[in-house]
Amino acid sequence: MKILGIGMNYRKHAAELGMAVPTEPVVFLMPETALITRNLPFFYPDFSNEIHHEVELVLKINRLGKNIPEKFANRYYDEIGIGIDFTARDLQRKAVAAGHPWTISKGFDGAAPIGNFVSKAELGDLNNIGFSLEKNGQLVQQGNSADMIFSFDALIAYASKFFTLKIGDLIFTGTPVGVGPVQIGDNLVAKIGDRELLNFNVK
Ligand code: ZN
Repeated sequence: MKILGIGMNYRKHAAELGMAVPTEPVVFLMPETALITRNLPFFYPDFSNEIHHEVELVLKINRLGKNIPEKFANRYYDEIGIGIDFTARDLQRKAVAAGHPWTISKGFDGAAPIGNFVSKAELGDLNNIGFSLEKNGQLVQQGNSADMIFSFDALIAYASKFFTLKIGDLIFTGTPVGVGPVQIGDNLVAKIGDRELLNFNVK
């Protein structure tokens, strides 16, 4: 399986990083080894001094597709979950300055913890999904799918032009404003609405 990430899909987040609002989705790939499941801890890597949390809604692809028209894209996922797109911001800044890929800053081992998934039927209006991240009990990020620049369906249509989507692939759909550093000892809790779906520690 593969993991797709989307950069700058929320205006206020693009602004906080000083990046332009994109006119097409910004897509990057993470390897399967980036995943952390079952609330296992995230081990702070020794190659970075600036690991940032980015809480994101995550789509789980449930059928094979390529060149998926946007109007049919909703048939390609049944469940939505939440995850953290951990980013080695120091390495990313260096890569951006040099015009190099983001790959190591986004796709390192453990960079993509994911929680439990919820059925679309249970979530109701997909254009109004509230989600949040708490760090050590304090609210640090709060977002709503209503504020995405590119909708879930637009992301699937765009990404599937380049990459055949397969069952089990994941799409991290971008982070809202409020990204910031984590430290060893932190506890992170991510929620969709008031459902706690992810809860783990940084070690
Ligand atoms: Zn992200």
